[in-house]
Amino acid sequence: MRFQSTRGQAPELGFDDVLLTGLARDGGLYLPVTWPERSAEEWRAMRELSYADLATAVTQPFLAGSTIEADLPEIMKEAYSPFDHPAVAPMVQLGANTWLMELYHGPTLAFKDYALQVVGHLFDRVLSAKKERITIVGATSGDTGSAAIAACAGREAVDIIIMHPKGRVSEVQRRQMTTVDASNVHNVAIDGTFDDCQALVKSMFNDQTFRDELHLSAVNSINWARIMCQTVYYAYAALALGGPDRPVAFAVPTGNFGNAFAGYCASRMGLPIASFLVGSNRNDILTRYFKTGEMTIEGVQPSLSPAMDIQISSNFERLLFEAYGRDGNAVTRLMDGLHQSGRYTVEPAPREAIASQFTGSRLCDEQTKAFIRSTYETTGQLIDPHTAVGVHAAQNSDLDQAIPKVILSTAHPAKFPDAVESAIGIRPELPPAMAGLYDLQERYDELPNNLKQVQDYVRAHSRV
Ligand SMILES: *Cc1c(COP(=O)(O)O)cnc(C)c1O
Repeated sequence: MRFQSTRGQAPELGFDDVLLTGLARDGGLYLPVTWPERSAEEWRAMRELSYADLATAVTQPFLAGSTIEADLPEIMKEAYSPFDHPAVAPMVQLGANTWLMELYHGPTLAFKDYALQVVGHLFDRVLSAKKERITIVGATSGDTGSAAIAACAGREAVDIIIMHPKGRVSEVQRRQMTTVDASNVHNVAIDGTFDDCQALVKSMFNDQTFRDELHLSAVNSINWARIMCQTVYYAYAALALGGPDRPVAFAVPTGNFGNAFAGYCASRMGLPIASFLVGSNRNDILTRYFKTGEMTIEGVQPSLSPAMDIQISSNFERLLFEAYGRDGNAVTRLMDGLHQSGRYTVEPAPREAIASQFTGSRLCDEQTKAFIRSTYETTGQLIDPHTAVGVHAAQNSDLDQAIPKVILSTAHPAKFPDAVESAIGIRPELPPAMAGLYDLQERYDELPNNLKQVQDYVRAHSRV
């Protein structure tokens, strides 16, 4: 399979290069040149598959021509074996026709494991086939760093250096990163904010000499491989609820729009999905867009669902590319506008195309607690603040009652114990496999917010 950039100026690449490159050279994001659509009959035949086998079946066409194509079944089996539920992504029924899909049974208790566990294996295999190494550098405010570390720990061809703002991530999140005992994992607490950490990463990537010297790579959600892996749980849910012979709807708490876009991919691959009910917190750039057709940047404010505290939803660019009939120039114009004036307006036809599948709703912190409470009182299910945003998006919709709704639960409640406790007075407990988290030895270094010192550190700890 070949992949093209949403800005239309970068060369088409095969899977292996798309995996290692992440962002396209023209600033765009990669998408497959065609959608591998499956017939209803082909989908039906996948109903009986285990999660790992379904992951192979769904993602195989994207790896056509890759050096590691034949390894895919084994990669998927290995990637999902550490998950702590036999179904990998189990669903619980919340109401007459509403389901919650628990996407928190991976090693770090958030949905990012579902893609990053696979991506860690993909990196390792592609790099050993090419006899290359890379250095991953990243900044995290919490979930991404721990999921990336869990995915890369012990991988022969990868060194990973994750910076977090000192004293500004939750204890669970910090411990999930710093207690990983692997010689290729390096945690750095930066004396600064999350924005400072991100600026350091950006500067390292903009320093071409340094970037080439260390084979820098990133694992953020603009990487196509992550999106590809996330389409699998949409298929898993749809098939379990009668798809492809019956449409389903999904409620998705989203920030960067990666998760919602993965659902769109599943629909392009032939699964009938009636609607995506997109939920945001007070940082509501997306839900404002769905109301007005205009994307306008505002400042970021901290919320109870910090993984969705974003200024721009980067992955929305992929949906725009589709809605504009794959016109890279049109997407470039919109993104230039966003860069220059902090806004763009989507034209009527593409806006209509998007509105036919997506709606948005916003939930403030006070109501987030109210939804954690009401969900617990009516169903007994403990949910985290991100999931509460999804529950609200599902309840707030005027979708036909006959269509089953699946709410994606993106984090385990014990990952955000303070918010849950302040909502219902119960402190959620970590699953048994993680119970020792507070006793494990932490390992991390501290550095000032200084580019030169950080670069020296990366150089000293990379094996490239
Ligand atoms: C990352 C994250 C999100 C947002 O995911 P997107 O891909 O930006 O839509 C939601 N919830 C949790 C718990 C997360 O970690």
